[in-house]
Amino acid sequence: MAQEVKTTCPYCGVGCGVIARVGDDGAVSVKGDPEHPANFGRLCSKGSALAETLDLDGRLLHPEIGGRRAGWSEALDLVAERFSRSIAEHGPDSVAFYVSGQLLTEDYYIANKLMKGFIGSANIDTNSRLCMSSSVAGHRRAFGSDTVPGAYEDLELAELVVLTGSNLAWCHPVLYQRLSAAKANRPEMKIVVIDPRRTMTADIADMHLAIAPDGDVALFNGLLAHLAASGAVDRNYISNYTSGFDEAVAAASRLDLPALSTATGLTVAQLRAFFRLFETTEKVVTCYSQGVNQSAAGTDKVNAIINCHLATGRIGRPGMGPFSLTGQPNAMGGREVGGLANMLAAHMDIEKSLHRDQVRRFWGAPSVASKPGLKAVDMFRAVADGRIKALWIMATNPVVSMPDADAVEAAIKACPFVVVSDIVRDTDTARHAHVLLPSLGWGEKDGTVTNSERRISRQRPFLAAPGEARPDWWQLAEVGRRMGFAAAFTHGSPAVIFAEHAALSGFENEGRRDFDISAHAEIDGPAYDGLRPFQWPQPQGSAPQKKRFFAEGAFYHPDGRARLVAVEVPRPRSANDAFPFTLNTGRVRDHWHTMTRTGKSARLSGHLAEPFVEIHPRDAQGAGISDADLVTLESPHGAAIVRALVTDRQAEGNLFVPMHWNDQFASKARIDALVAPVTDPVSGQPASKNMPVRASRFAAA
Ligand code: SF4
Repeated sequence: MAQEVKTTCPYCGVGCGVIARVGDDGAVSVKGDPEHPANFGRLCSKGSALAETLDLDGRLLHPEIGGRRAGWSEALDLVAERFSRSIAEHGPDSVAFYVSGQLLTEDYYIANKLMKGFIGSANIDTNSRLCMSSSVAGHRRAFGSDTVPGAYEDLELAELVVLTGSNLAWCHPVLYQRLSAAKANRPEMKIVVIDPRRTMTADIADMHLAIAPDGDVALFNGLLAHLAASGAVDRNYISNYTSGFDEAVAAASRLDLPALSTATGLTVAQLRAFFRLFETTEKVVTCYSQGVNQSAAGTDKVNAIINCHLATGRIGRPGMGPFSLTGQPNAMGGREVGGLANMLAAHMDIEKSLHRDQVRRFWGAPSVASKPGLKAVDMFRAVADGRIKALWIMATNPVVSMPDADAVEAAIKACPFVVVSDIVRDTDTARHAHVLLPSLGWGEKDGTVTNSERRISRQRPFLAAPGEARPDWWQLAEVGRRMGFAAAFTHGSPAVIFAEHAALSGFENEGRRDFDISAHAEIDGPAYDGLRPFQWPQPQGSAPQKKRFFAEGAFYHPDGRARLVAVEVPRPRSANDAFPFTLNTGRVRDHWHTMTRTGKSARLSGHLAEPFVEIHPRDAQGAGISDADLVTLESPHGAAIVRALVTDRQAEGNLFVPMHWNDQFASKARIDALVAPVTDPVSGQPASKNMPVRASRFAAA
């Protein structure tokens, strides 16, 4: 009998609702869920091709130890024994989990509880570190909490939408569809796209500002200085709800217009036009994504943007606010449970003894890690230099996706004990594992995810678990039990984990923290099965879900005030004679991350069939490169070979290469092998943009 199941797309942070239909013959088809508030029935190319990615080719179906098939008990016993031995001999910080925004919140919750509460280390970090940790750090500096102040609807209600470091058309396509439709209905709405490339998103822009890489702090500092000088700030909002305005304006005013022009690569006329548009438009939303976050100055960029919204009081009201767009389906859920090495569960702060004590008592844990753990780049450095001796990688492929990927691969190869939980048997990372554990994929998983607008949705199973694959949370709980923590890991279902997570969010909270979903603390199996998408917070009692935060202050710093942060323009990370081009990396429309799923769909691969480098015609001519030539790209860290795409959409001096391909899909195409392991000093997020490289026509040896 055919059945339809409501679930959520596993790709980007828009978090679209999907209806999966399983026919009498077992064939699966998908369509958008018209009732889901993220997409109202829309899907993008990736979402519509989900049914084409569900075959079992290449699936990891049984646990393996050293390349041979093993039973679950033997594999879990070995993982528990090796982790316990490392902890006994070298201390809790000798082990680490590297997890993923692909995990469901329930998986993340158990991973975090095991590492921070019972192993007693905070060495759990996530590939979301590569995606949005600068936004988290910027939110916490400004608001005292990691709170996204608005909702998707604000993009439709705005009179001006500024998209900076965001190729919305390709990276958050359904949100782009919503924005395009809103602009078609209200042609007076203005859109500004700030990006070194003239992307597809720029096609609907009234103004495209081809900013120099890392010019964002200068641009938004210049905007703040302009707003202050022209009296276009909200004095009441500033004095009632914020602090730091004078210092932020002083820092922002250090560059005059000609100097701003040099720092941003924009003309004085372009700067004036943008500043004037922002100044004279009441309803402004500024969306930002990886072009802002993936920078050595990512957190400062985020705060430079937020400063402008705080100074004008344009936050928390319909059609207004800064808006961070998360890359992954559950980057936000990971933040909620403390999946980052510097955070605790339920948006609590690992560096606050009160919060550590609350979590410890709630969990009944012996002790909770008392200091932040290693963030992604530092974690793999610690693997490389032998400080980490046992590493568990879940649902991610760092040998392709981490900066300095060759060095990361060497570190993993040399690590004494590596566990990989995945759905794919032969990823670039999995082939170096001592133990492989088969996990559930989309359509088999059961749990929740949170999208960029704080909306929690269910991922529901509609396919049987293949082979011996089991949920990630179950694998973690079984290892925790075998390590001697049986009483803390008795969860029999994701519903029980979600209820515990919800209860912790309300535990001794009383409004001191933003994240509170304790209305669901008593949820049972049937209610969890029927859970409809909702935006947090949903505290216990009658308070409704909150669409927006901060229209009337009530920030989460102890004094209730937001902070405008004085940020300085970073020194340019320039190209040089040896490496004369600036490389930016990013996504393409139809592939996802390292292509382990989207690579299965011929339709999706038909959009862009191979890795490429976008290069400006004059740069191509200067380097002796013609369209469709093979090009060697080199940095001090590594090399890749990709196809030339000569286009004036790319600014001169800059190159763009997609991040998806790996050595399985094309020879020598792991672009992150070129990227330096440079990180933002506040967030620890790697700078995957603005990398000096050289390019030459490929010559076969
Ligand atoms: Fe999935 Fe994102 Fe596309 Fe929505 S926009 S269907 S969440 S990939």
